[in-house]
Amino acid sequence: MTQSHGFATRAIHLGYDPMDHEGALTPPLHLTSTFAFETAEAGGEIFAGDRPGHIYSRISNPTLDLVERRVAALEGAEAGLALASGMGAITSVLWTLLSPGDEVIVDKTLYGCTFSFLHHGLARFGITVTHVDLTNPETLALAMTDRTRAVYFETPANPNMRLVDIAAVSAIAHAGGAQVIVDNTYATPFLTRPIALGADLVVHSATKYLGGHGDLVAGMVVGRAEQVAEIRLVGMKDMTGAVMAPFNAMLVLRGLKTLALRMQRHCASAQVVAEWLEAQPEVAKVYYPGLPSFDQNALAQKQMDAPGAMIAFELTGGLEAGRRLMNGLRMITRAVSLGDAETLIQHPASMTHSTYTAEERATHGISDGLIRLSVGLEDVEDILADLDAALAKDRLLKSA
Ligand SMILES: *Cc1c(COP(=O)(O)O)cnc(C)c1O
Repeated sequence: MTQSHGFATRAIHLGYDPMDHEGALTPPLHLTSTFAFETAEAGGEIFAGDRPGHIYSRISNPTLDLVERRVAALEGAEAGLALASGMGAITSVLWTLLSPGDEVIVDKTLYGCTFSFLHHGLARFGITVTHVDLTNPETLALAMTDRTRAVYFETPANPNMRLVDIAAVSAIAHAGGAQVIVDNTYATPFLTRPIALGADLVVHSATKYLGGHGDLVAGMVVGRAEQVAEIRLVGMKDMTGAVMAPFNAMLVLRGLKTLALRMQRHCASAQVVAEWLEAQPEVAKVYYPGLPSFDQNALAQKQMDAPGAMIAFELTGGLEAGRRLMNGLRMITRAVSLGDAETLIQHPASMTHSTYTAEERATHGISDGLIRLSVGLEDVEDILADLDAALAKDRLLKSA
């Protein structure tokens, strides 16, 4: 199995031969905390890095190895690292890269817990956190200083769907000697491969599309082998201890087998839902990269193989109308998280992004009326019917 095989083929077969495992079609689950050494000398050599082998499951485990190799291959990276959560991945990377006195430049809009980690975590330890509007790469060139060690962003950004031009930002960051870290949770490697566009590291909440079934919390990091090894031994092993559980690695491996198939359906349905929403008189604005009305539609076409399945929208009736819509739904589920089979709806200002203060949300482009929809795998007619019924209920109430 090589990189020349297709995406779905690699997601199903890469790094595993049943004949090495008594013919078992599905890779074995290595539920073990520790590993036996053949001799005292062999144990010492493994610890010293002079001989390959596993030591303890907070450092490595064969089931984790496989998910690490598969996600790295799908992202076109040299190596991967499996972590306990997306936040475990993000914090392990940034704790490894940054020291007191360093600066990290981040985009204006970030996932709520990433924002609070930067401001309540890193900033307390003498690291400068600077927000820059990375949708305009020119502003990065002006903001870089000789202390800028890393540039970090999401594309599309959670929750308002702003896109960042990975190639343009990477070129500017590298010219100034900074590393580029991309949170690829929304796009997944099926739609965008940041490493090929110049990024140094990619992080994921594997809780979302990679797992894909809403039954686990997990994270991934991929990048150059040497750097991923450092993150494994510093950020993961020592600083956070945020290692992925072998059972969750098994579930992520299962999710990856259908990633291509699921993303195709997610994206096809999301395009239909976004166009339908845009046509409703109650809807003031739809943010979806696949709409011609989307500001960065051209960048979406350049950088994404399809526009993804996350939609943000605002109703003309503002937040109150949004609450009524959410409460009027019967199938679409009111819940945070995303990338599941179930269509999920939530209100960022009071839920995922309540880690920002109201002033911070205003500064960072997260409006109070914004509703976030993760389009699932149900029949799209049923998704539309549920949204339509909830809007119609409101229309009736208003006309009564
Ligand atoms: C959910 C999410 C995270 C955090 O991941 P967890 O697995 O919940 O820790 C980070 N980034 C983005 C874009 C997310 O959507």
